[in-house]
This record gives sequence, structure tokens and C-alpha cells, in this order.
Amino acid sequence: MERFKKIVGKNNVLTAYEDRYCYAYDATAIGEKLYLPDAVILPENTEQISEILKIAHKNKIPIVTRGAGTNLVGGCIPLKGGIVLHLSKMNKIINIDKNNLQCVVQPGVAVEKIQQEVEEQGLFYPPDPASLKVSTIGGSIAQSSGGPRGFKYGTTKDYVLGLKVVLADGTIIKTGGKTAKNVTGYNLTQLLTGSEGTLGIITQATLRLIPKPEERKVLLACFDSIDTAAQAVTGIISAGITPSTLDIMDKNTMQTIEKFHQTGLPSDMDAVLVLEVDGFKEGVERQTQEIISICQELGAKNIRASQNQQEADEIWFARRSAFGAVARLRPNVLTEDAVVPRDKVPEMVKKIRQIADKYSLTVCIMGHIGDGNIHPNFSLDLRDKNEAHRFEKATEELFDAAISFGGSLSGEHGIGLSKAPFMKKALCSKNIELMKSIKKLFDPENILNPGKVV
Ligand SMILES: Cc1cc2nc3c(=O)[nH]c(=O)nc-3n(C[C@H](O)[C@H](O)[C@H](O)COP(=O)(O)OP(=O)(O)OC[C@H]3O[C@@H](n4cnc5c(N)ncnc54)[C@H](O)[C@@H]3O)c2cc1C
Repeated sequence: MERFKKIVGKNNVLTAYEDRYCYAYDATAIGEKLYLPDAVILPENTEQISEILKIAHKNKIPIVTRGAGTNLVGGCIPLKGGIVLHLSKMNKIINIDKNNLQCVVQPGVAVEKIQQEVEEQGLFYPPDPASLKVSTIGGSIAQSSGGPRGFKYGTTKDYVLGLKVVLADGTIIKTGGKTAKNVTGYNLTQLLTGSEGTLGIITQATLRLIPKPEERKVLLACFDSIDTAAQAVTGIISAGITPSTLDIMDKNTMQTIEKFHQTGLPSDMDAVLVLEVDGFKEGVERQTQEIISICQELGAKNIRASQNQQEADEIWFARRSAFGAVARLRPNVLTEDAVVPRDKVPEMVKKIRQIADKYSLTVCIMGHIGDGNIHPNFSLDLRDKNEAHRFEKATEELFDAAISFGGSLSGEHGIGLSKAPFMKKALCSKNIELMKSIKKLFDPENILNPGKVV
């Protein structure tokens, strides 16, 4: 520990049991087994991380990088002990370059802070994981996070232009850069984006920005069946409308939100669509009217369109409260993140409900229906071994169903610890072999987030 204290200062190395205990967890419910790190280190710059990794590499010490710990796949669990590198002290926006539509940030800055600061300059960073108030840009890049705006704007991977990365042996590299286009060799920037802390440690990122849309409007459209809500989504897309958000919440989700927050959601309905349209003012008005007509034709009840920022914020508050509300129902909540082709969403939702019934589990379904990305939130008590076992069986069937519909294990939350055992279901053995070779090339001693992804 003395060598690490020399690098970062003694106050930035935590070894007390109670400190290490806090870093044995992230936002994922993983059961009762405790995985304690041997130390937590809070570096302040890239060079310190490089020095730490040189020692870790030589001594085969596992390194788990941590942003805000909000991932939902056990990505920050120090499975093999070692060091948790918490990047909360590297939390600066280095510059915002309006002329080139980009900004340079440190990994520990919260996504919402980036959004707020660039919006003050008339710019826009669209990726918006619902955890954006606390989740960091480093964690978002490492997970290639999505969020409600994925349908129109894509996900984090679409906004990463360049990275500064510390490799497992302490070497510092830069990938990509400040240019909007760049096809110089293999795309290491995209390989590292979504690599979940297993290939390198991101210590700086150059992000692409776009001009801030002039106007935004949020709509809530209520349906008495999920099938009809899905038909409305198809109708909206085939009418050539591109909402920035096309999300859905089912009855159980609405009832759970209302139980804790009283946001006025119509919890007697089977499903509600949450839509946001943005762009130039006239375009937003026209698209809003068209969406309302399409939903009404399909029998939507009670369509609400925000008239001002406060009303828009109220709808967003309800939507963003969903996971937290389900988490309050019982001791644990586990979220799945399967993704299917958009037209298979109604069948997938039906299947999830059947599986939940079969295994007597409580499930609240929500998700980004425009992306075919469904989040069934299972409300559980993992101390009940029988229930934990039923959940495991249900998860496996759920992944099988997603794959049989032409989908996959994860749309945006990543693989981490929880989905690693299912990779063989989704990918052929050659793909997995290639991924393992890449991991070995970047991290021959397997010190970076061992036990995750592959
Ligand atoms: C209420 C709630 C809502 C959520 N909503 C969404 C959503 O809408 N969309 C979505 O995609 N996700 C969502 N998530 C999941 C999660 O918030 C995102 O994946 C988030 O981007 C993770 O950021 P973080 O800073 O918490 O990362 P962490 O959880 O700290 O880390 C995530 C992974 O990245 C690695 N890592 C972290 N920083 C670095 C770095 N600098 N270099 C290399 N590796 C690193 C870690 O080792 C870990 O494997 C939600 C989670 C919660 C709790």
C-alpha cells in the first residue's frame, strides 16, 4: 500500500473495512456473498493511474474501475478482490469547443453536468441514461449506455470521438481525436467504448455535440392494451415521424410509481407511451398533432401533451422514477435488458408476462419500445433461495425468448457479471474466441475487471 500512497497521497488510499465494504457493491442485487476489495484508490490524473497500473500489472493485482457504481450488471463488483479505482476526483469538463461541436471531459463528470453545461452554450449531448444525475461519462462510455433518446439520437457510442486510455501495463494511449471523421486503421475508440473496464481505463474523452433543439414537447398516451400501444408506435414511425423518445411503461410499473410518488399516471390502463418530440418549433407542433391523431385513431385514452417546461418535467419525473419505485417494493430489484426487433415487442412482452406467471414473480415492464429494448424489472427477495432460483430459471427463459425473436441479451446495460454466463446463448463460439483473444492482447495478466463480459 505504501507505494500506492506515494503515488496518490495517503488520503486517497482507503483500506479501512468500512470503506472497502462500501465498494463491495454497485446498483446490482447480487445476493448475500460479499466481494471486498483490498483497497480503494482515488486517483487525480492519468499519470497516477498509469503508475498504479504498472505496479498492478507486475504483481497481478485485479483493478476494478468505478464511476458512480450505477450499472445494473455487477460491473463494479470486485469479484477477485484487488483495487477499486474510484474516479470521482477526475470530474472536470476540460473544454467546450463550440466551433467544432465537441467537448473534452474527464471520466468522473456526471452526464447531467455535461448536458447542462453544453446546453448553456446552445449545444446538446443527447445520450441520457435515466441515472444521468449521478452516472459518470466514464461509466457511460465503458457501458456504451443508452437511454430514452436512443431512437432518434443513438447511444453513447455515437458521440465518442476520441479517448485517452491507460492500458493494463500502464501505457497511456490516445485513440481517435478531434476530427468529425477518422478512418485511420481499426476503430479502437469504438472497441474501447462498451468494453466495461476490461480492456483499459478511460481517463479522458472527446465527445461529439450537436446544436440544441429549439423546442421540446413531451406526450403521454394511455392505452388499454400493450398491443395497441405497439401499433401506435408502428403508426408513428411509418408516418415518417422521428420522436426523440418512444418509451413504454406497463400497468404494474405505473401502479408502483403511483404508490410512492403520486404523479398522476393512469394506473388503471394497461400501458402508457412516453414520447418526446424535439426540433424547430413549427415541426414540433406539427409532429405533436400527428402523433395525437395516430394515437386517437387507435383508441388511445387521455393523451397529455406538455404545454410548458414544468409539465414536461412532471412527465419525465414519473418516467425516471420507475426503477427507484420498483426498488422500494421489496428488498431487491433485478432488471433485464433484452433487445428484440421492434416489431417483436408485443410478443416479447407477452412472453415476459407468461414467464413471470410461470415462476410466480412480480414484474414491472418498461423500456425503450422504439429501440425494441425492454426492461422487465423483477421485484424480489433474494434471501428467499426458492425465489432466487425461480428468478434464475425465468432469466434463462427470457434470454432464450429474446434470441428466438432475433434479439440479444442486452440493448444498453451491458454484460458485466450477471449476463456473462449467457454469452454462449447469444454469440457463436468463434465470436467468443475472438473476444477472448482481444481481451488477452489488451490485458495478458487478466487484471482489468476480471470475471466480467467474457
Ligand atoms: C435508476 C437507474 C436508471 C438507469 N437507466 C439507464 C438507462 O436509461 N440506460 C442505460 O444504458 N443505463 C441505465 N442505467 C445503468 C447505468 O446507470 C449506466 O450504465 C451508467 O452509464 C453507468 O455509469 P456509472 O458511472 O455509474 O458507471 P459504473 O457503474 O461505475 O461502471 C460501469 C462499468 O464501467 C466500468 N468503468 C467505469 N468507469 C470507467 C472508466 N473510466 N474506464 C473504464 N471502465 C470504467 C466499470 O468497471 C463498470 O464495469 C441505469 C441505472 C440505474 C440505477
